[in-house]
Amino acid sequence: MTTIDAPSVLPQPLTSGNFDPRLEPIRAKVFAGKRLSLEDGAVLYDTADIWGVLDMAKLVRDRMHPGVAYYNINRHLNYSNVCALSCKFCEFYRKKGEDGEYTRDLDYIREQGRKAVESGATEFHIVGGLNPYLPFEYYTDMLKALREVAPQVHLKAFTAVELVHLARIAKVYKREDPKIGVRWVLERLKEAGLGSLPGGGAEVFDERVHKEAFKTKIGAHEWLDVHLVAHELGLNSNCTMLYGHVDKVDERLRHFEILRRSQDQALQRLGYEGDPDGYIAQGVPESAPFDAPVITLSAEGATLPNASMFEQGGYYQTLTPLPFFPDGSELEFLPGPAGLENLRTIAVARLMLDNFPHIKAFWIMQTLPMAQLMLEAGADDIDGTVVWYDITKAVGEGTHQETTVTDLQKAIEEAGYEPVERDTLYRRVVRDGREWRAE
Ligand code: SF4
Repeated sequence: MTTIDAPSVLPQPLTSGNFDPRLEPIRAKVFAGKRLSLEDGAVLYDTADIWGVLDMAKLVRDRMHPGVAYYNINRHLNYSNVCALSCKFCEFYRKKGEDGEYTRDLDYIREQGRKAVESGATEFHIVGGLNPYLPFEYYTDMLKALREVAPQVHLKAFTAVELVHLARIAKVYKREDPKIGVRWVLERLKEAGLGSLPGGGAEVFDERVHKEAFKTKIGAHEWLDVHLVAHELGLNSNCTMLYGHVDKVDERLRHFEILRRSQDQALQRLGYEGDPDGYIAQGVPESAPFDAPVITLSAEGATLPNASMFEQGGYYQTLTPLPFFPDGSELEFLPGPAGLENLRTIAVARLMLDNFPHIKAFWIMQTLPMAQLMLEAGADDIDGTVVWYDITKAVGEGTHQETTVTDLQKAIEEAGYEPVERDTLYRRVVRDGREWRAE
């Protein structure tokens, strides 16, 4: 019989072993639903007491979404990978004539619409490259075609970067005020069936990172302008943070500050009252245009905005942190972030973005086991069933990435939450097979 000797020194439990007194004042603010400062954020990223950070993020997440976690049944449609730009972190784009380039025609798009209906999907997530060879009408025709064959499926389409590109190809872009052309574009897309905006293209709002990794792409001001116009038109939007490449922690925190100031402004327009003593970071230039008071939603009993509260919406629904995958990109010499950093980033996002209703652990990029763990670390949503995700993928995965509703529900239940199917606007979906309605 084999005997195992007890270790002479028992390993310390992580929480107590790494207790960090710097977390105590932060914990007090979190309990009181007060906005955290950039300095607080730096401690959250730096502390060895990772479990202390995750625990606070879980507290906020459970306050905002007690007992539940969300998933959806969706389809991704990447209409073209031809792109005029060549962002260093991107492995998706192709130049015209290059191996693997594609642009989908309307027949293909209609076919995808019919398949989405057959599978009971409630959402299309539609993004692509900045294709200089397509006319503006291609985009309105695409939305109208999907409306025809899949009238109930929500069309969440086009990142801010694509929308600025559309203003350019429609020849309505004005350098002195990009909002004018973007409004023209969004009004027409909305008429054609656009329901909301995804959140891509934000990367990390910082001039240094912008210059180093994606200098020809739009910067923070233009990205924010596009979302501002979308909100004014009553369209909800989302945002991302692509991190773990050339970015630093303080730049990620500034990204969060800019986003929450932008959300302060959206919520003020919707009638939310501000905190006169709320913290506003000094010296973050991109957040200067947002003159709204600080509005937090993370206190006990705060009312979260939802689609049924307003005649028309116009706010950020969710932030999705996206870990950078080096393979195939110009930055493939970089290691990319590892699991613990991804977990911590979800938690820090939940704690800093106190006025964002949702934080998403996008399972395609995080993997499903990690996304499940992230439900314990601040995330309340793991996204959907997803078929054909071309943009980027977890290491070793192909572009056909699909999971079943049963897998998503199981992952959520194992994490201790009730799985709730949501539509794009986070309304509960009531389903009878493929037939469904949102409540
Ligand atoms: S990230 Fe977007 S804009 Fe940049 S190269 Fe890739 S597809 Fe084009």
